[in-house]
Amino acid sequence: MTRGDRLTEVVRERELSALVVTNLENVHYLSGYTGTNGVAVVGAEGQRDFFTDFRYLERAEVEVRDFERLRGKRDLLGDAAERLSAGRVGFEEEHMSVRSHRRFEGLVPEGVELVGVHGLVEGLREVKEEGELAIIRRAAALADDALAEALEGGLAGRTEREFAMALEDGFRARGAEPSFESIVASGPNGSLPHAEPGDTVIAEDVLVTVDYGAKIDGYCSDCTRTFATGEVGAEAREVYELVRAAQAAAGEAIRAGLGCKEADSIARAVIDDAGHAEHFGHGLGHGVGLEVHEGPRLTPAASEEETLVAGNVVTVEPGVYLPGRLGVRIEDLVVVTEDGSEVLSQLPKDLTVVGET
Ligand code: ZN
Ligand code: ZN
Repeated sequence: MTRGDRLTEVVRERELSALVVTNLENVHYLSGYTGTNGVAVVGAEGQRDFFTDFRYLERAEVEVRDFERLRGKRDLLGDAAERLSAGRVGFEEEHMSVRSHRRFEGLVPEGVELVGVHGLVEGLREVKEEGELAIIRRAAALADDALAEALEGGLAGRTEREFAMALEDGFRARGAEPSFESIVASGPNGSLPHAEPGDTVIAEDVLVTVDYGAKIDGYCSDCTRTFATGEVGAEAREVYELVRAAQAAAGEAIRAGLGCKEADSIARAVIDDAGHAEHFGHGLGHGVGLEVHEGPRLTPAASEEETLVAGNVVTVEPGVYLPGRLGVRIEDLVVVTEDGSEVLSQLPKDLTVVGET
């Protein structure tokens, strides 16, 4: 069954006559198209239209499979509207502005009722096919390799930004791009989970959190390791071991059937028990694929019905952040399997002192 076939089933289940797909990652997933202007229409009766404008027709000729390739105008919503017939037609409400929606309402033929839906294609994307897993495995291995190489140049004495650039140069040298802007956060900067690497010179005897991912063939990886640049002191070591224990507990529990909320709570309980509940301010993890943050989300906010299924690719990334002092996050990228998980992040998780020989 093609991805288009699977979406047709979802369209039927939702009692829609068609779904208009405007999110480009979703269009890419369904059709193979990688350009920057494209819309797909998937009908309950097998209609499968793809539109792009003249700039991308040649690209579409090469890339688009399983869809009828149609030449559109620059405003593809108008073209999509012309292919719709009466009935309930879904549109991706998370990916359409209020303004576009208003315009679309004016373009669709009489008898079409536009229905906002979300997560239909994203739901399919959460379960990876073997081919997708193969690419993500390569991306993860490549990113680890680039980090190992960057670390050979040491951490202390370089600025956070210099280190981030060395790492990302390593991705490019290996034919990949960064899947997001790398985080290199040293010393007190580590207490900001999303710190941007700056001009801070990495000191001796501090922790440094490096959150990095590579993107190849459209797919992302995501991993975090926290390193030491020397003797970091008892508090830092304690927090490190705590995060490591929380990461291990959740990592060992990951398997098909585990609740998304439950996965989060396994790691959270370890951190709470150590008195650091308020220092773990984000969810345990997220899905990774064409986007670095996608479903499923492993958070306290996940509903009880959301469970992991085989083929999900998720991160397991607890952290503890002590404002103004230090931060530790350890993140693995894992593939969920029927009886456990396959860990794609291969760098060691023992606290590693970089620069020590
Ligand atoms: Zn990350
Ligand atoms: Zn992540």
